[in-house]
Amino acid sequence: HSGFVAIIGRPNVGKSTLLNRIVGQKVAIMSDKAQTTRNRIQGIYTTDDSQMVFIDTPGIHKPHSRLGDFMVKSALSTLGEVDAIIFMINADERRGAGDNFIIDRLKEVKKPIYLVINKIDQIHPDHLLEIMDQYQDAIKWEDIYPISALEGNNVPELLATLQAKL
Ligand code: GDP
Ligand code: MG
Repeated sequence: HSGFVAIIGRPNVGKSTLLNRIVGQKVAIMSDKAQTTRNRIQGIYTTDDSQMVFIDTPGIHKPHSRLGDFMVKSALSTLGEVDAIIFMINADERRGAGDNFIIDRLKEVKKPIYLVINKIDQIHPDHLLEIMDQYQDAIKWEDIYPISALEGNNVPELLATLQAKL
């Protein structure tokens, strides 16, 4: 049960918060493998019989500049190197062009992809159903997890599933 997991998504959806929570719970190492250009933060989560390396990526967005284009390519190239992918969205925002841009890229990736709907602590439960509706059929998700990276809701369950499937 070990492998690499990339966390991708638009800026500000909570990717770094999730990584911090995962590593903060069961810490091994938090290292900043920073070349500024790649800027990939990795956190290692270990249990008695598993080790998962989580890779935080700079937010993927529709590139508007050459630097932006470079950052996005860097984030996307990570996808080729991992065993599973977490695509994180903000439960409080509607599906937009930025998400569609990422989803189009994900359609080409043959890896298990988990849809993680973050910030459920700040929405009404009815709204969660709406969001699920918007994303459910976008691609074939390995699984869908509504979570709060900030408060920790459902994060242990997400980790358990990843661990079992890696
Ligand atoms: P990133 O750009 O995807 O890495 O996003 P960050 O992890 O930096 O989070 C962006 C903002 O969203 C920060 O102010 C976080 O505190 C906030 N945030 C992240 N996760 C949650 C969550 O589960 N609930 C709430 N209410 N805020 C969150
Ligand atoms: Mg971040």
